[in-house]
Amino acid sequence: MTDVAAVRTKFRLGVIGDPVAHSISPAIQQAAFDAIGLPTTYERWQTSQDELNGRIASLRADDVLGANVTVPHKQAVMPFLDEVRPVALRAGAVNTIVHRDGHLSGDNTDVYGFQAALAGAGVDAAARSALVLGAGGAAHGVILGLAALEVTRTLVWNRNAARAHELAADLGSVPLIVCDSSHAALQRAVAGASLLINATSVGWHGDEVPIPLAMLDQLGRDAVVMDLTYRDTAFLRAARARGMQTLDGLPMLVYQGARAFELWTGKDAPVEVMFDAARRARAS
Ligand code: NAP
Repeated sequence: MTDVAAVRTKFRLGVIGDPVAHSISPAIQQAAFDAIGLPTTYERWQTSQDELNGRIASLRADDVLGANVTVPHKQAVMPFLDEVRPVALRAGAVNTIVHRDGHLSGDNTDVYGFQAALAGAGVDAAARSALVLGAGGAAHGVILGLAALEVTRTLVWNRNAARAHELAADLGSVPLIVCDSSHAALQRAVAGASLLINATSVGWHGDEVPIPLAMLDQLGRDAVVMDLTYRDTAFLRAARARGMQTLDGLPMLVYQGARAFELWTGKDAPVEVMFDAARRARAS
Protein backbone atom coordinates (compact mmCIF):
# COMPACT_ATOMS: atom_id res chain seq x y z
CA MET A 1 0.00 0.00 0.00
CA THR A 2 1.15 3.56 -0.72
CA ASP A 3 2.36 5.54 2.28
CA VAL A 4 0.30 8.70 1.78
CA ALA A 5 2.38 10.76 4.22
CA ALA A 6 5.21 10.63 1.68
CA VAL A 7 2.96 12.26 -0.93
CA ARG A 8 1.29 15.22 0.84
CA THR A 9 1.13 16.73 4.30
CA LYS A 10 -2.55 17.55 4.90
CA PHE A 11 -5.65 15.56 4.04
CA ARG A 12 -9.43 15.51 4.17
CA LEU A 13 -11.90 12.64 4.47
CA GLY A 14 -15.55 12.35 5.37
CA VAL A 15 -18.65 10.23 5.67
CA ILE A 16 -21.22 10.57 2.89
CA GLY A 17 -24.84 9.81 3.78
CA ASP A 18 -28.28 11.19 4.52
CA PRO A 19 -28.45 11.68 7.45
CA VAL A 20 -24.90 11.72 8.84
CA ALA A 21 -25.40 13.85 11.95
CA HIS A 22 -25.66 10.74 14.15
CA SER A 23 -22.57 8.99 12.73
CA ILE A 24 -19.79 8.18 15.18
CA SER A 25 -17.32 7.46 12.35
CA PRO A 26 -15.90 11.03 12.57
CA ALA A 27 -15.01 10.49 16.26
CA ILE A 28 -13.43 7.10 15.56
CA GLN A 29 -11.44 8.15 12.49
CA GLN A 30 -10.32 11.54 13.82
CA ALA A 31 -8.91 9.83 16.92
CA ALA A 32 -7.00 7.40 14.70
CA PHE A 33 -5.49 10.13 12.50
CA ASP A 34 -4.56 12.21 15.53
CA ALA A 35 -2.93 9.17 17.15
CA ILE A 36 -0.61 8.49 14.23
CA GLY A 37 0.07 12.20 13.68
CA LEU A 38 -1.17 12.41 10.09
CA PRO A 39 -2.74 15.89 9.71
CA THR A 40 -6.22 15.03 8.50
CA THR A 41 -9.73 16.28 9.10
CA TYR A 42 -12.57 13.78 8.91
CA GLU A 43 -15.88 15.55 8.22
CA ARG A 44 -19.61 14.86 8.00
CA TRP A 45 -20.66 15.20 4.37
CA GLN A 46 -24.45 15.37 4.42
CA THR A 47 -25.45 14.48 0.84
CA SER A 48 -28.85 14.07 -0.77
CA GLN A 49 -29.43 11.77 -3.73
CA ASP A 50 -29.36 14.79 -6.08
CA GLU A 51 -26.02 15.93 -4.69
CA LEU A 52 -24.34 12.53 -4.87
CA ASN A 53 -22.70 12.89 -8.30
CA GLY A 54 -21.15 16.24 -7.34
CA ARG A 55 -20.04 14.94 -3.97
CA ILE A 56 -18.24 11.97 -5.50
CA ALA A 57 -16.60 14.23 -8.10
CA SER A 58 -15.29 16.41 -5.24
CA LEU A 59 -13.36 13.40 -3.88
CA ARG A 60 -10.92 13.72 -6.80
CA ALA A 61 -9.35 16.82 -5.20
CA ASP A 62 -5.63 16.43 -4.39
CA ASP A 63 -6.06 16.63 -0.62
CA VAL A 64 -8.90 14.08 -0.32
CA LEU A 65 -7.91 10.55 0.71
CA GLY A 66 -11.38 9.12 0.22
CA ALA A 67 -14.61 8.68 2.13
CA ASN A 68 -16.93 6.39 3.98
CA VAL A 69 -20.40 5.86 2.55
CA THR A 70 -23.47 5.15 4.62
CA VAL A 71 -27.23 4.80 4.20
CA PRO A 72 -28.81 5.38 1.69
CA HIS A 73 -25.94 5.72 -0.82
CA LYS A 74 -23.96 2.46 -0.49
CA GLN A 75 -25.28 1.13 -3.77
CA ALA A 76 -26.01 4.41 -5.53
CA VAL A 77 -22.35 5.55 -5.48
CA MET A 78 -21.17 2.66 -7.66
CA PRO A 79 -21.77 4.22 -11.13
CA PHE A 80 -19.75 7.33 -10.15
CA LEU A 81 -16.60 5.37 -9.27
CA ASP A 82 -13.72 4.28 -11.54
CA GLU A 83 -13.54 0.82 -9.96
CA VAL A 84 -15.59 -1.29 -7.56
CA ARG A 85 -13.63 -4.00 -5.72
CA PRO A 86 -14.95 -7.59 -5.98
CA VAL A 87 -16.07 -7.82 -2.34
CA ALA A 88 -18.13 -4.63 -2.73
CA LEU A 89 -19.65 -5.92 -5.98
CA ARG A 90 -20.60 -9.19 -4.28
CA ALA A 91 -22.03 -7.40 -1.24
CA GLY A 92 -23.84 -4.92 -3.49
CA ALA A 93 -22.57 -2.12 -1.26
CA VAL A 94 -19.63 0.31 -1.14
CA ASN A 95 -18.88 1.63 2.34
CA THR A 96 -15.35 2.92 1.64
CA ILE A 97 -13.96 4.96 -1.26
CA VAL A 98 -10.21 5.29 -1.74
CA HIS A 99 -8.84 8.19 -3.79
CA ARG A 100 -5.40 8.03 -5.44
CA ASP A 101 -4.28 10.45 -8.17
CA GLY A 102 -7.78 11.13 -9.46
CA HIS A 103 -8.82 7.46 -9.40
CA LEU A 104 -11.73 6.43 -7.14
CA SER A 105 -11.99 2.84 -5.96
CA GLY A 106 -15.04 1.54 -4.07
CA ASP A 107 -14.54 -1.14 -1.43
CA ASN A 108 -16.53 -2.87 1.29
CA THR A 109 -14.99 -3.25 4.74
CA ASP A 110 -18.21 -4.32 6.52
CA VAL A 111 -17.60 -7.98 5.61
CA TYR A 112 -14.14 -7.85 7.17
CA GLY A 113 -15.51 -5.87 10.16
CA PHE A 114 -18.16 -8.49 10.84
CA GLN A 115 -15.66 -11.36 10.69
CA ALA A 116 -13.12 -9.54 12.85
CA ALA A 117 -15.81 -8.76 15.46
CA LEU A 118 -16.71 -12.44 15.76
CA ALA A 119 -13.06 -13.42 15.99
CA GLY A 120 -12.39 -10.71 18.56
CA ALA A 121 -15.19 -12.11 20.73
CA GLY A 122 -13.71 -15.61 20.46
CA VAL A 123 -16.65 -16.89 18.41
CA ASP A 124 -15.77 -19.72 16.05
CA ALA A 125 -18.61 -19.62 13.55
CA ALA A 126 -17.47 -22.70 11.63
CA ALA A 127 -19.63 -25.31 13.36
CA ARG A 128 -22.62 -23.04 13.86
CA SER A 129 -25.97 -22.75 12.18
CA ALA A 130 -26.66 -19.07 11.54
CA LEU A 131 -29.93 -17.18 11.35
CA VAL A 132 -29.77 -13.64 9.98
CA LEU A 133 -32.70 -11.33 10.67
CA GLY A 134 -33.06 -8.70 7.94
CA ALA A 135 -32.31 -8.52 4.23
CA GLY A 136 -30.86 -5.04 3.71
CA GLY A 137 -27.32 -3.89 2.97
CA ALA A 138 -25.92 -5.03 6.31
CA ALA A 139 -27.43 -8.52 5.92
CA HIS A 140 -25.69 -8.86 2.53
CA GLY A 141 -22.30 -8.26 4.14
CA VAL A 142 -23.01 -10.51 7.11
CA ILE A 143 -24.09 -13.40 4.88
CA LEU A 144 -20.97 -13.08 2.73
CA GLY A 145 -18.88 -13.06 5.90
CA LEU A 146 -20.64 -16.15 7.25
CA ALA A 147 -20.12 -18.03 3.98
CA ALA A 148 -16.39 -17.40 4.15
CA LEU A 149 -16.34 -18.60 7.77
CA GLU A 150 -17.89 -21.89 6.68
CA VAL A 151 -20.92 -21.98 8.95
CA THR A 152 -22.87 -25.21 8.62
CA ARG A 153 -25.79 -23.30 7.11
CA THR A 154 -27.26 -19.81 6.92
CA LEU A 155 -30.93 -18.95 7.08
CA VAL A 156 -32.33 -15.50 6.44
CA TRP A 157 -35.64 -14.18 7.73
CA ASN A 158 -37.12 -10.83 6.80
CA ARG A 159 -40.58 -9.38 7.48
CA ASN A 160 -40.76 -8.85 3.72
CA ALA A 161 -39.79 -12.28 2.32
CA ALA A 162 -39.61 -10.96 -1.26
CA ARG A 163 -36.65 -8.81 -0.26
CA ALA A 164 -34.92 -11.87 1.27
CA HIS A 165 -35.39 -13.71 -2.03
CA GLU A 166 -33.88 -10.73 -3.87
CA LEU A 167 -30.92 -10.86 -1.49
CA ALA A 168 -30.44 -14.57 -2.22
CA ALA A 169 -30.55 -13.82 -5.96
CA ASP A 170 -27.99 -10.99 -5.53
CA LEU A 171 -25.63 -13.29 -3.66
CA GLY A 172 -25.92 -15.95 -6.35
CA SER A 173 -23.79 -18.94 -5.42
CA VAL A 174 -23.69 -18.20 -1.66
CA PRO A 175 -25.57 -21.06 0.08
CA LEU A 176 -28.59 -19.55 1.79
CA ILE A 177 -31.99 -20.72 2.98
CA VAL A 178 -34.72 -18.09 2.72
CA CYS A 179 -37.50 -18.47 5.30
CA ASP A 180 -41.01 -17.34 4.62
CA SER A 181 -42.08 -14.34 6.66
CA SER A 182 -44.55 -16.18 8.91
CA HIS A 183 -44.29 -16.36 12.69
CA ALA A 184 -44.12 -20.16 12.48
CA ALA A 185 -41.20 -20.08 10.05
CA LEU A 186 -39.37 -17.64 12.27
CA GLN A 187 -39.97 -19.85 15.31
CA ARG A 188 -38.58 -22.91 13.51
CA ALA A 189 -35.58 -20.96 12.27
CA VAL A 190 -34.74 -19.63 15.74
CA ALA A 191 -35.05 -23.11 17.25
CA GLY A 192 -32.44 -24.44 14.81
CA ALA A 193 -29.94 -21.59 15.21
CA SER A 194 -26.75 -21.43 17.27
CA LEU A 195 -25.69 -18.03 15.93
CA LEU A 196 -28.50 -15.45 15.77
CA ILE A 197 -27.76 -12.08 14.20
CA ASN A 198 -29.99 -9.04 14.14
CA ALA A 199 -29.18 -7.20 10.91
CA THR A 200 -32.46 -5.30 10.81
CA SER A 201 -32.58 -1.61 11.69
CA VAL A 202 -34.73 -2.45 14.73
CA GLY A 203 -32.90 -1.73 18.00
CA TRP A 204 -32.02 1.95 17.93
CA HIS A 205 -35.14 3.17 19.72
CA GLY A 206 -36.02 2.35 23.33
CA ASP A 207 -36.73 -1.33 23.92
CA GLU A 208 -37.84 -2.21 20.39
CA VAL A 209 -36.94 -5.79 19.41
CA PRO A 210 -36.67 -7.53 16.03
CA ILE A 211 -38.46 -10.74 17.15
CA PRO A 212 -40.62 -11.70 20.14
CA LEU A 213 -38.20 -12.23 23.02
CA ALA A 214 -39.94 -15.44 24.13
CA MET A 215 -38.48 -17.06 21.00
CA LEU A 216 -35.03 -16.80 22.57
CA ASP A 217 -36.11 -19.57 24.98
CA GLN A 218 -35.72 -21.99 22.08
CA LEU A 219 -32.01 -21.30 21.65
CA GLY A 220 -29.40 -23.45 23.37
CA ARG A 221 -27.38 -21.83 26.17
CA ASP A 222 -24.28 -22.09 23.98
CA ALA A 223 -25.89 -19.94 21.29
CA VAL A 224 -24.29 -16.61 20.39
CA VAL A 225 -26.56 -13.62 19.80
CA MET A 226 -25.24 -10.62 17.88
CA ASP A 227 -26.91 -7.29 17.13
CA LEU A 228 -25.41 -4.97 14.52
CA THR A 229 -26.91 -2.03 16.41
CA TYR A 230 -24.01 -0.49 18.30
CA ARG A 231 -25.81 -0.17 21.62
CA ASP A 232 -26.83 -2.66 24.29
CA THR A 233 -30.28 -3.47 22.92
CA ALA A 234 -33.24 -5.10 24.67
CA PHE A 235 -32.64 -8.04 22.32
CA LEU A 236 -29.08 -8.50 23.62
CA ARG A 237 -30.10 -7.99 27.25
CA ALA A 238 -32.79 -10.67 26.92
CA ALA A 239 -30.28 -13.13 25.41
CA ARG A 240 -27.76 -12.39 28.15
CA ALA A 241 -30.43 -12.95 30.82
CA ARG A 242 -30.87 -16.43 29.33
CA GLY A 243 -27.15 -17.16 29.73
CA MET A 244 -26.06 -16.66 26.13
CA GLN A 245 -22.97 -14.87 24.84
CA THR A 246 -23.89 -11.56 23.22
CA LEU A 247 -22.11 -9.10 20.96
CA ASP A 248 -23.24 -5.63 19.96
CA GLY A 249 -22.33 -3.82 16.72
CA LEU A 250 -19.58 -1.58 18.09
CA PRO A 251 -16.64 -3.95 17.39
CA MET A 252 -17.87 -4.47 13.82
CA LEU A 253 -18.07 -0.70 13.35
CA VAL A 254 -14.54 -0.21 14.70
CA TYR A 255 -13.01 -3.04 12.67
CA GLN A 256 -14.63 -1.90 9.43
CA GLY A 257 -13.28 1.58 10.18
CA ALA A 258 -9.83 0.18 10.93
CA ARG A 259 -9.72 -1.60 7.59
CA ALA A 260 -10.86 1.59 5.81
CA PHE A 261 -8.13 3.56 7.61
CA GLU A 262 -5.53 1.08 6.35
CA LEU A 263 -6.84 1.34 2.78
CA TRP A 264 -6.66 5.16 2.87
CA THR A 265 -3.27 5.51 4.55
CA GLY A 266 -1.28 2.32 3.96
CA LYS A 267 -0.57 2.34 7.70
CA ASP A 268 -1.65 0.01 10.52
CA ALA A 269 -4.77 1.31 12.24
CA PRO A 270 -4.48 2.16 15.95
CA VAL A 271 -7.36 -0.17 16.78
CA GLU A 272 -7.37 0.33 20.57
CA VAL A 273 -7.49 4.12 20.13
CA MET A 274 -10.43 3.64 17.77
CA PHE A 275 -12.24 1.42 20.28
CA ASP A 276 -11.77 4.02 23.05
CA ALA A 277 -13.06 6.80 20.80
CA ALA A 278 -16.05 4.70 19.72
CA ARG A 279 -17.03 3.92 23.32
CA ARG A 280 -16.71 7.60 24.28
CA ALA A 281 -18.78 8.72 21.27
CA ARG A 282 -21.44 6.12 22.00
CA ALA A 283 -21.71 7.26 25.61
CA SER A 284 -22.03 10.95 24.74
P1 NAP B 1 -31.39 -1.32 5.36
O1 NAP B 1 -30.69 -1.71 4.10
O2 NAP B 1 -32.29 -0.14 5.39
O3 NAP B 1 -32.24 -2.63 5.83
C1 NAP B 1 -33.05 -2.57 6.97
C2 NAP B 1 -33.55 -3.96 7.33
O4 NAP B 1 -34.28 -3.84 8.56
C3 NAP B 1 -34.50 -4.58 6.31
O5 NAP B 1 -34.36 -5.98 6.31
C4 NAP B 1 -35.86 -4.15 6.86
O6 NAP B 1 -36.93 -5.02 6.49
C5 NAP B 1 -35.62 -4.32 8.35
N1 NAP B 1 -36.56 -3.53 9.13
C6 NAP B 1 -36.64 -2.18 9.18
N2 NAP B 1 -37.64 -1.81 10.03
C7 NAP B 1 -38.17 -2.98 10.51
C8 NAP B 1 -39.21 -3.26 11.43
N3 NAP B 1 -39.91 -2.27 12.02
N4 NAP B 1 -39.47 -4.55 11.72
C9 NAP B 1 -38.76 -5.56 11.14
N5 NAP B 1 -37.76 -5.35 10.25
C10 NAP B 1 -37.47 -4.07 9.95
O7 NAP B 1 -30.33 -1.06 6.53
P2 NAP B 1 -28.88 -1.73 6.69
O8 NAP B 1 -27.87 -0.88 6.05
O9 NAP B 1 -29.00 -3.16 6.30
O10 NAP B 1 -28.65 -1.59 8.27
C11 NAP B 1 -29.33 -2.44 9.18
C12 NAP B 1 -28.80 -2.18 10.59
O11 NAP B 1 -27.43 -2.58 10.69
C13 NAP B 1 -28.86 -0.71 11.02
O12 NAP B 1 -29.28 -0.66 12.37
C14 NAP B 1 -27.42 -0.27 10.89
O13 NAP B 1 -27.10 0.79 11.79
C15 NAP B 1 -26.68 -1.54 11.27
N6 NAP B 1 -25.32 -1.61 10.73
C16 NAP B 1 -24.30 -1.74 11.62
C17 NAP B 1 -23.01 -1.84 11.15
C18 NAP B 1 -21.90 -1.97 12.13
O14 NAP B 1 -20.74 -1.80 11.75
N7 NAP B 1 -22.18 -2.30 13.37
C19 NAP B 1 -22.74 -1.80 9.78
C20 NAP B 1 -23.82 -1.70 8.89
C21 NAP B 1 -25.10 -1.58 9.39
P3 NAP B 1 -37.78 -4.75 5.13
O15 NAP B 1 -36.93 -5.25 4.01
O16 NAP B 1 -39.00 -5.61 5.34
O17 NAP B 1 -38.08 -3.29 5.07
